[in-house]
Amino acid sequence: MSDNREGKSVLTLKNVTKRFSGLVAVNDLSLDMKERTIHALIGPNGAGKSTAINMITGLLPLTEGEIYHEGTKISGMSAHQIAQTRCSRTFQNLKLYRSMTVKEMGLDECLAKDNEIVWHWLTPGQEARLKARDASVYILSANGVSETGEIVNIDGTGNRLAASLFGPKRVFYVVGRNKIEPDLPAAMKRARNVAAAKNALRLQTKTPCAADGGKQCYECTSPERICCATVILERPCQGMEVEIIFIDEDLGF
Ligand code: SF4
Repeated sequence: MSDNREGKSVLTLKNVTKRFSGLVAVNDLSLDMKERTIHALIGPNGAGKSTAINMITGLLPLTEGEIYHEGTKISGMSAHQIAQTRCSRTFQNLKLYRSMTVKEMGLDECLAKDNEIVWHWLTPGQEARLKARDASVYILSANGVSETGEIVNIDGTGNRLAASLFGPKRVFYVVGRNKIEPDLPAAMKRARNVAAAKNALRLQTKTPCAADGGKQCYECTSPERICCATVILERPCQGMEVEIIFIDEDLGF
């Protein structure tokens, strides 16, 4: 796809390719969008449209190629850095978990401009739960991720765990480098002794970990215990698209 009309280039893709193992989702895509023009990316399901948009907006890394926005190279930048250049994507409606990672990145503010966002934890009740369940996209982080491929999350109410497993069509995990551990036991240990204990402190629960400054887990039986259910995601559940976006920064607990 090319556009030879005069004018300043707003968005330029040079030989952009995305491979998922053996699958080539986008192959050698080049385009040059000029200012004051409108472009549409059309194609059947599986053609790579969403993958291309996700690469442009930094939600997926490129396998090959380069992307420029108003002359500045944006490929290689994180999604929140690209969003600050006013280049971002929208979703039909989406649901955000009360995540420190999401907050620290400012993702909630960026996405709120163009999306209906469901904060089911802010407006408790059945209506919010049903809206959250029907959201097309769910964004959350992780309490621990292993280099062997497992994602570990712990919940007090199960809201995040349930939504990450069933309901939304697409789930994005946004994960800072501080969440990565070499194997599953280390990721489990981190989820409890680092993430849960610090979150208990942040939420000011009456638990021994919070009383101790969020330094470690004491395997408590407190009524306010926030570690009531644990999910280890080994592979995406059937019928759900899962993308994990690693950010090369320390984010969240
Ligand atoms: S089990 Fe209790 S002590 Fe341990 S992290 Fe969870 S809330 Fe804190």
